[in-house]
Amino acid sequence: MKKIESDVKQYLDERLWNNLRPGDLAKSISIEAAELLEIFQWSNPELGTVKMDNEKIEKIKKELADILIYCIDIAVLLDFDTEEIIRKKLDYIKKKYPAELMSKMKGKESGTEDAYWQIKKEHRRKNA
Ligand SMILES: [Mg+2]
Repeated sequence: MKKIESDVKQYLDERLWNNLRPGDLAKSISIEAAELLEIFQWSNPELGTVKMDNEKIEKIKKELADILIYCIDIAVLLDFDTEEIIRKKLDYIKKKYPAELMSKMKGKESGTEDAYWQIKKEHRRKNA
């Protein structure tokens, strides 16, 4: 992570983009996320189907790179340790969605409304 942060910092410095406003970068992240979403406009193929679609995969890679670069730009300009903030959030998510709860949900398709409410109910019960 440090290497990519360093490369991004250099890329920003060389272009005199080291004073970009965080709000402009946040808007850019959202705009690029919309471009990623546009790839799936009017369709919602399964994971395996997407993986077999080379043209779609290349488009996804390009938009993901745009999003990730803007994310790292904002982290670098705000002097965040990208790895630290990701690990901290991952730890939070692991507690919110414990693996043992997920394994209890067999038979319910992940990402469905039923699964969502079961997770939410369990999370609220634990944190009450
Ligand atoms: Mg783009």
